[in-house]
Amino acid sequence: MDKRRILILGGTTEARELAHRLGARDDLDVTLSLAGRTIDPAPQPVPIRTGGFGGAEGLADYLATNRVDLLIDATHPFARQISANAERAAEHSATPLIRLERTGWQPVEGDRWTPVATVNDAVAALGAEPRRVFLAIGRQEAHHFNAAPQHHYLVRSVDPVDPPLTAPSVEYLLARGPFSVEGEIAVLRGHQIDVVVSKNSGGEATYAKIAAARALGLPVLMVDRARNGRVSTAETVEEALRLIDHVASGGRKRGV
Ligand code: NAP
Repeated sequence: MDKRRILILGGTTEARELAHRLGARDDLDVTLSLAGRTIDPAPQPVPIRTGGFGGAEGLADYLATNRVDLLIDATHPFARQISANAERAAEHSATPLIRLERTGWQPVEGDRWTPVATVNDAVAALGAEPRRVFLAIGRQEAHHFNAAPQHHYLVRSVDPVDPPLTAPSVEYLLARGPFSVEGEIAVLRGHQIDVVVSKNSGGEATYAKIAAARALGLPVLMVDRARNGRVSTAETVEEALRLIDHVASGGRKRGV
């Protein structure tokens, strides 16, 4: 019997975990797709393919050429382009699509969050007075803060920010999560940070900075997610596994 082919769009802990669970099944042929942004990505439990597809059309071609039976979009909640492409490509190629997206963090007592819609809104919300800012939003969007050069920035990312920021007062910290609350408190104290900028990524690996800000009474500019209500979405790996079986039992797209 031919195995059912699954393509997981990844780049997240959940994608890796899902790949691990699905890869262990002998009725499935699972490939994980990475954008190729991280120079030294973590080892993955199934075969990977790396790099962009060439937009929604390119992805649709890939799905057809490789006779993919199910597309799983398990990319990061803030990787909006690839998710939009996945939706269009799935539609064009009539491939079932499931989204795996962890829930966002919710504020709890003691949190001092200011929600903002975009990273650019976070730049504006820092205000005119110079502040010491912890930028924990990844390296791709850090350059937006060049527009507010009066602040001091501590930028943390897995790989170096390239090109570096043009703002005059910037420190870089290379580190890969998960992070501990004690470690994050030490970072915030050590660099005399007075405001944290974060995306509402959800998940545990990067939550410690939020808990650390709360412990120190620091404000957080929290970049919200854009909503996408059209795709069947699981919030956890377990839920995704159930959805996948549900889609599988609903009939196969191709006669395998
Ligand atoms: P994005 O803006 O949504 O995507 C930009 C382009 O990168 C896509 O159009 C696609 O190129 C390619 N791409 C993205 N993810 C891909 C994947 N899994 N496999 C193959 N190609 C992919 O994405 P991003 O925000 O730059 O994120 C890139 C990757 O990092 C994603 O896999 C995401 O899960 C991960 N990540 C992102 C964040 C974040 O905050 N944005 C945080 C942690 C991890 P083509 O159009 O050529 O196909």
